[in-house]
Amino acid sequence: MNFARRMLPAFYLALLLTVLIGLSSLPCSAQPAPSQPAPAMTAAPAQPTTTQAYSLPPDKLAKAITLSHISIALNIAGSLWGLAVLWILLATRWAAGLAAWAEHLLRRRWMQGLLFFAAFLVITTLAGLPLDAIGHAVSRHYGISVQGWGSWTGDLAKSLGLSLLFGTPVLLLFNWLVRAYPRSYWFRIWLFTLPLILLTVFAAPLLDPIFNKFEPLTKTHPALVVRLETVVARTGTKIAPDRMFLMKASEKSNGLNAYVTGIGATKRFVLWDTATDRLPDDEVLFIFGHESGHYVLNHIPKELAGMAAGLFFVFWGSAAFAGWLARRFGVRWQLNGVGVGQNTLGAPVILSEAQRVEGPAFCTSVAKGGNPETNSEDADTAPLASRQGFLVLLFALSVASLILQPAGNSFSRHFEHQADVYGQEAIHGLVADPQKTAVGAFNHLGEAWLEDPNPSPLIEFWEYSHPSVQTRANFALHYDPWANGGHGRFFAK
Ligand SMILES: [Zn+2]
Repeated sequence: MNFARRMLPAFYLALLLTVLIGLSSLPCSAQPAPSQPAPAMTAAPAQPTTTQAYSLPPDKLAKAITLSHISIALNIAGSLWGLAVLWILLATRWAAGLAAWAEHLLRRRWMQGLLFFAAFLVITTLAGLPLDAIGHAVSRHYGISVQGWGSWTGDLAKSLGLSLLFGTPVLLLFNWLVRAYPRSYWFRIWLFTLPLILLTVFAAPLLDPIFNKFEPLTKTHPALVVRLETVVARTGTKIAPDRMFLMKASEKSNGLNAYVTGIGATKRFVLWDTATDRLPDDEVLFIFGHESGHYVLNHIPKELAGMAAGLFFVFWGSAAFAGWLARRFGVRWQLNGVGVGQNTLGAPVILSEAQRVEGPAFCTSVAKGGNPETNSEDADTAPLASRQGFLVLLFALSVASLILQPAGNSFSRHFEHQADVYGQEAIHGLVADPQKTAVGAFNHLGEAWLEDPNPSPLIEFWEYSHPSVQTRANFALHYDPWANGGHGRFFAK
């Protein structure tokens, strides 16, 4: 949602658990994919032409192009580094050593697991710190972020705290599923993921105040709320004024944004104060119309359904890939914990059978999984069932998420385009000129985030969750279904 790159642990957590930080990917925002602008690779010095509905003044254009190059590089580096960190943890046997250390330190199996996964989250957070800091420094340099380093570090710590609080138990649960159900664990993890996603979407607005201040929109912008209610009346949505919030984004960012979030009792519309301060009310109405479109057109349930269907195959494929990795590297990476005494962390060498069986009753099935040689059917999975083995699964999931990123983004862009159409139709009759209003809003958004007016189609295809600002603005400029007495797709007039 923000310009800043996502942190490494979020990378792992979002793709496996969609717990916590991944939640920001669910609510669709009117903002044009600010985190991943694209380079103008093809452009002979990209200059605004009369056919472009979105353009930047020359000084900002140069900045936007440079910024897009940096962002692309950071995104690629971040993805590869995320994979590399997991690989390094496994290949150096540090993961095996960490597991042995936890077993040495604590008696109860579930506590060992909590310690292992908590340490894992801390390690990956620290590993991602340099790239995250570079991302923040770049954002500050280009005047998009105005957040001080102290506040930024505080957010990072809070984020890690939430990961530890919610992510660790979930990782423990999933790890147990692999142990207890060596053959069908991926299906069971998938089943557990579904309610977790719903819970995450539901809880997202409740966790947001940990990072930013929110207040009812009516408190400071009663006149704007009255106008937004005219859009509500036209769209037939049930977004009451008490579900409209203002976020004090200006403390941290110069970007403009608005989004819908939550489901059921937590459903709401959030507008950044930067947008209310700097955008004309007509343009806020258009953005609100766009967000309303996400609700009216059931984009959140559809995205959730699509995600659930996609994850089914992701987990299935990842389990197969992880199984292959475990067969190929299992011994070298000490996934079964054999020979852990060689590590430098001073842990015991091999667990006794008593230690293995000890712990909660549901863990006794591990004894079977812990002896791969005795059961050929479980042999592939047994190394994955160890704590370090679970990281192999995370690695496979990371690879899958990277490969499938364009597919997810293609769906997202489709929904965003629909919402753009809906938003423009929603303000018809409520503002003087819907086309001009929408084009104005896109130019303001693009300028605030320094969006490249000429992104490479490949980068747009691969990384953009929204169509490029240029695409959106050009469409808006020419979208006039009311000419010659016609009507739009979603409204009768
Ligand atoms: Zn949207």
